[in-house]
Amino acid sequence: MPRTAAALISEAKEFIPGGVNSATRNFGAPYAFRDSQGAYLTDYDGRRYVDYHAAFGAILLGHSDERVTAAVTQSLNGLDLVGLGVSELEVEVARMVAKLIPSVEKSVTTMSGTEATMQAVRLARGVTGRKYLLKFQGCFHGWGDAVARNVASPADRIGTVDPLSTGILEDALGSTLVADFNDLDSVRALYERYPDQIAAIILEPVPHNVGALLPDQSFLEGLREITKAEGSILIFDEVITGFRHAPGGYQELCGITPDLTSYGKSMGNGFAVAGLGGRADLMDNFSSAGGGVMLAGTFNGGPVSMAAAIATMTVASDPEVGMHEYTGRLGARMRDGLRDITTELGIAAHVTGLGSVFICYFMDREPKSYNDLLENNDVAYATFHRRMTDRGFVMYPMTLKRNHISLAHTEADIDLTLEAAREVLQEMKSE
Ligand code: PMP
Repeated sequence: MPRTAAALISEAKEFIPGGVNSATRNFGAPYAFRDSQGAYLTDYDGRRYVDYHAAFGAILLGHSDERVTAAVTQSLNGLDLVGLGVSELEVEVARMVAKLIPSVEKSVTTMSGTEATMQAVRLARGVTGRKYLLKFQGCFHGWGDAVARNVASPADRIGTVDPLSTGILEDALGSTLVADFNDLDSVRALYERYPDQIAAIILEPVPHNVGALLPDQSFLEGLREITKAEGSILIFDEVITGFRHAPGGYQELCGITPDLTSYGKSMGNGFAVAGLGGRADLMDNFSSAGGGVMLAGTFNGGPVSMAAAIATMTVASDPEVGMHEYTGRLGARMRDGLRDITTELGIAAHVTGLGSVFICYFMDREPKSYNDLLENNDVAYATFHRRMTDRGFVMYPMTLKRNHISLAHTEADIDLTLEAAREVLQEMKSE
């Protein structure tokens, strides 16, 4: 007998803190799903939802994609985890990553994006011998100490140390500097204040952790010039943008070559795999190559994650599948539709996104930096997402969360979503 969602959640709360394994999974509403196929999730009452949450973007091809499932299943028939030497699958992943991501010559795999950015930061500090890391207000790079500050800060914490967590030493937080996205002057000011002390700049080239702030090309070019001139490492954190916006990530679209790139999430279409890649002369500073920067991880390069990554990257980069063209077309259909609806209803909104990612900010101009997003009506944003989810279109009901379209979504899904969005927005307008 299938249990009810309510029974499952109540049991979860008994054994798991808060009933979930990652804080932002706590919907606050009794959602628990028992099946995932393609673009759809099914809950314990048998109700089907169209999924735009996509496991925070980890689902790229659609849920339970049969090509990925077949590759993973096959990987279980051969060599399992050995822990000595290297496997064919690991070499194939590294070869594919180097082929797809323009800046990558050598790479290592990790199990999560957090580990990949932690490795990137440590490598940059190890290679330069410098203390400071520079990040941007609004960008998230996982939960490692060095980057755990100033993501979606409330207005009164902007410009101060705004930690993501208690339990992090002040020294760790204070060794990370925070600048404003799309604002080169704020970056230059930090270089003036800390000359020859900044090891690296890390950024999401498109800050999707606050929706979709679109980068000015001149900003990204400026960061490349400054880091080159100052002897700092430029790290693109493409954990969300990688594979999703192009086979080679956002760097393929903007033509800027970072020194190091972290990626993960959609790389294995839901299986746990991530990685760090970049210039060979930098990557060779890992202890695996005789350098001083420790590289370790029992499960790194395990066969299931490698098989999932190879299958996902193969489909995502296959010109005959045309994944990016297809999901980009559906994304544009969704954005155009939402724009028409909000304009027609006279709602202060800015519909934006990129490719397969869409969001509707509740503010009437384009935000360029996190500070601009303080104008967003957070309550309206979360309300829209919650009511869409209640109607069967899963969108994470928290402000500034983005939505993702996968290869498994159809035009009909988009059109049904737009119909529901019209009803929800009409309802919100009339309240
Ligand atoms: N970097 C970015 C840009 C992310 O969005 C995330 C996860 N949301 C991470 C790093 C951390 O990845 P993970 O959750 O796999 O540790």
